[in-house]
Amino acid sequence: AQERYASIRDKPAVAKCGTTVSLHMNAGLMADLPSLVGSGAEGVGLFRTELQFLIRTRVPQRKELAEIYSGVLNAAKGKRVVFRTLDIGSDKVLPYMKRVDEPNPAMGWRAIRVALDRPGIMRMQLQALLRGAKGRPLSVMFPFIAEFEEFQRGRQMLLDEVRRERRLGHELPADLEIGAMLETPALAYAPREFFELTDFISIGGNDLKQFFFAADRENEQVRRRYDVLNTSFLRFINQIVQRCKDAGTELSFCGEDAGRPVEAICLAALGIRTLSMRPASIGPVKHVIRRVDLAELASVLKAECETGATNVRARVMDWLSRQDI
Ligand code: PEP
Ligand code: MG
Repeated sequence: AQERYASIRDKPAVAKCGTTVSLHMNAGLMADLPSLVGSGAEGVGLFRTELQFLIRTRVPQRKELAEIYSGVLNAAKGKRVVFRTLDIGSDKVLPYMKRVDEPNPAMGWRAIRVALDRPGIMRMQLQALLRGAKGRPLSVMFPFIAEFEEFQRGRQMLLDEVRRERRLGHELPADLEIGAMLETPALAYAPREFFELTDFISIGGNDLKQFFFAADRENEQVRRRYDVLNTSFLRFINQIVQRCKDAGTELSFCGEDAGRPVEAICLAALGIRTLSMRPASIGPVKHVIRRVDLAELASVLKAECETGATNVRARVMDWLSRQDI
């Protein structure tokens, strides 16, 4: 399928209105990295670091992890890689970690919550990231933040580790960006200071949708029942776009919907100018972006939202049928 899109692989995703959308890929293992060239991705927008922990029978060593992170940055050849700190719990259970049975793991003790309560593993991971970066730029983001203070504490842990590395005389990253994943509706209403302190924010649409609609992403009965083209969700995304714009913070979207062409152009029309998706989706998404006018689509979305419609999909599909795709 990638061959079909080979002719546009090295071209930017510029829409007919002149808007450029930056397309990145999601990854989690070294084996994913060669796709960076093959897909035409501008970088890795989401590196799911828990995969390294999930494929082992014990907690990986700091040295081992630092080598992996260094290898990832080598393979990226200067393209940006956003490392997400461990997102365990919920659907990602480490076989060697003792954990209590939870009635509702998706809303349980997971991700940043585990990291803040048991900081040992997170500190080790942050040290490995700093050592892996070895003088190169480093981007780190914290998953599943529900309130400003959690981001502040995670960020402070990283800054503490930077200080420790400096004290030890180790080389520091050339540049350090610290971001947050917006995956809980609460975070959209965090204080203005949250949006100002973050270097970037990435919407984890899979989780955000699950909690916005109260519909389990793992439950076949309900997981397709609501979608991002629901007008309530679009209004919600619009608020997040505005808050990031007001604070001058870069906003991206890295859930599965970013890789679906119809959803992707709607997100871009709403003002999300960075999308991160599985590598195979980059070609199709880029193809469609290059053939539509996002400003026109934005007006279509706005007008449809004003009609009292529940979902804009039918209207968008009708509009798309008249475009030269
Ligand atoms: C998300 O929630 O959208 C996301 C990108 O993270 P994950 O799918 O790993 O939970
Ligand atoms: Mg998530």
